[in-house]
Amino acid sequence: MTARILNGNEIREQIYAELAQEIGDLDAAGIKPGLAAVLVGHNPASHIYVKSKIAACQKLGLASRLETPPANITTHELLDLIMHLNERDDVDGILVQSPLPPQVDAKKIFEAVDPAKDVDGFHPVNLGRLISGRPGLVACTPAGVMEILRRSGIEIDGANAVVLGRSDIVGKPMALLLLHANATVTICHSKTRELPEVVRRADIVVAAMGRPAMVESSWIRPGATVIDVGTNRVTDPAEAARIFAHRPERLEKFREKGEVLVGDVHPDTIDVAGAITPVPGGVGPMTIAMLMSNTVKAARMRRGQKSPAAAGAKH
Ligand code: NAP
Repeated sequence: MTARILNGNEIREQIYAELAQEIGDLDAAGIKPGLAAVLVGHNPASHIYVKSKIAACQKLGLASRLETPPANITTHELLDLIMHLNERDDVDGILVQSPLPPQVDAKKIFEAVDPAKDVDGFHPVNLGRLISGRPGLVACTPAGVMEILRRSGIEIDGANAVVLGRSDIVGKPMALLLLHANATVTICHSKTRELPEVVRRADIVVAAMGRPAMVESSWIRPGATVIDVGTNRVTDPAEAARIFAHRPERLEKFREKGEVLVGDVHPDTIDVAGAITPVPGGVGPMTIAMLMSNTVKAARMRRGQKSPAAAGAKH
């Protein structure tokens, strides 16, 4: 058996087409949703992420502004910038790119973002809304996973779902979204006992641990849906050889480039699962798509409008 591939790039394009329509309608009503990205210092990976977020805004016709304070900025100065963005009416979404430099109190900064503009969905107010099933802005990666599941026709209602990882930005909101969609949810973490047995009971597995290829194919119930959130850069040839022992073409690519991006799920799982997201090209593309979606949603919510796509759903 070879699993159906749940293609995040294709689903992202569907979402972009729907958003383009919605943005066009808002434009006709004189509303241009805008995202402000705050990029502190010179972290190369952060630069790439923010660049692709701004490019997505431009592609969809959203307004965007980039704030690039220096790496030595103080918490106080960064708070001033956040307050300024909170007050600007042309800014609907504020994104503060992690990681922040060590001298900055990151918690203070994230909590200073107006919850109505918190398009990353990290603010405790938005987490609280998620817990209580009220409309709000939901963290992009778990929201993207829900889009993959729903748009691929995966049955969530009544399913046994196992979420591997309990971070505030992926694992916990993921578990809550699945719970609201009527799955029976188990959340696993580094202290979970007999992890393979727990995972084996799942109809839906969401792996978000940051552990390259840790979930073995023998852990997966045949036919289960596997969502691989992990994005791990592997550079060790011995590790690459272990992971790609049965995938010579990928091992060859690793040898050419000296590195490879792998998920938390072992690639051999494709022979057992019923459906699976690839890495890359699965959950990754959905995260930026949901950031765009959240920016449009924030623009509507700030003006007291419901989003057409979300009108029937809780989140
Ligand atoms: P995180 O904050 O480091 O959390 C990792 C979670 O996994 C923790 O809850 C940890 O348990 C659990 N864990 C770690 N090792 C484990 C083990 N051996 N057995 C069971 N559980 C284990 O990571 P995160 O920010 O949630 O991200 C998780 C992964 O998703 C990373 O690979 C990250 O790069 C990726 N990610 C991808 C996207 C995307 O767009 N594709 C977006 C966000 C994150 P404890 O709580 O007990 O420590």
